[in-house]
Amino acid sequence: MRAKELKSDKKPSTDSIIIAGPCSAESENQLRQSIFPILERVDYVRGGIWKPRTRPGNFEGLGEKALQWIKALKAERHFKFATEVATPDHVDLALKHDVDLVWIGARTTVNPFLVSEIAEALKGVNIPVLIKNPIHPELALWKGAIERFLKNDLRQLGAIHRGFHTYQKTKFRNIPLWQIPLDLKSEFPELPLIADPSHIGGDRSMISSIAQKALDLAYDGLMIETHHAPDDALSDAQQQITPEALIELLDNLQFRQSKFSEKSVSDQLDIIREQIDQTDQELLQAIAKRLELVEHIGEIKKENNVAIFQISRWKEIFKSRLDMANDVNLDEPFVMDLLRLLHQQSVKKQTQIFEHKTEKQNE
Ligand code: PEP
Ligand code: MN
Repeated sequence: MRAKELKSDKKPSTDSIIIAGPCSAESENQLRQSIFPILERVDYVRGGIWKPRTRPGNFEGLGEKALQWIKALKAERHFKFATEVATPDHVDLALKHDVDLVWIGARTTVNPFLVSEIAEALKGVNIPVLIKNPIHPELALWKGAIERFLKNDLRQLGAIHRGFHTYQKTKFRNIPLWQIPLDLKSEFPELPLIADPSHIGGDRSMISSIAQKALDLAYDGLMIETHHAPDDALSDAQQQITPEALIELLDNLQFRQSKFSEKSVSDQLDIIREQIDQTDQELLQAIAKRLELVEHIGEIKKENNVAIFQISRWKEIFKSRLDMANDVNLDEPFVMDLLRLLHQQSVKKQTQIFEHKTEKQNE
């Protein structure tokens, strides 16, 4: 899938795909306050419905109940909703509630059996599927998950880079290891690559610099956790930002053209320019041909002692050419100017012939 196929039509401000919303859907009110203020700026609203937690007893998402809130909110304001699915049952429920995009979480990507079951459950379904990198830094596992979806004829695929677990002590919650997603992109150049600075940084103060780095590396989009009261969030409180902070962040990021799209644009321009060069050559050759014909006529006029300027012919040319111009949607005043210029040059050419012959006769 091309990145632009993931864009919604109403976001002219950037070509990047923007997905934002809370880590987890907690209540209808939380969803409303977290997502309504950002709807104009995002392509998809995110919200965790089923939360994979490292330890039992933490908030695990509200399941179907939360999907019903989403449905109710969608009836009030138009938006597309994205969530994580981790089992075929999640897929069924998500589809039943018209979820618009699903992603595979980092803890699922590591499990080829589960990935196959989810891909199977999504077979024939026409919504985008994004695949997060596996928890640990293994490119083959990430590629393998993508290949399992491709094998099931799912073509609207993308990848999310959310960083990798490490035992090293680093400032990141999940170390980015940028080379791994870039290697993935080189192998699947058409696969949109989206950065998740929230899970990479794990702290809201780091989101802007990680997001900018991803954009500088030609990522196709960003997924950012947004909550109306981040500190009270039931999951990932430290890394969520307010809707206002999201808007400010998006206003301050430098969105770059990806190398790929720049090249494709310049390739496209080169092709059109070649056609213009060719057309101009044909145009000049046609004008030269016209003037040759005019010279020929000038000679005949001279030989037969007929005046150069034939008003009835000129009027007829003017009228018929304007009709022709209209047929091919050319602007009338422009064509009139062009015809005058051509006529002027034709008269000049014939005059030269007359003068030249007269000079010769006088010799
Ligand atoms: C999430 O997006 O909230 C999430 C759980 O992500 P990950 O699978 O990257 O940990
Ligand atoms: Mn989260």
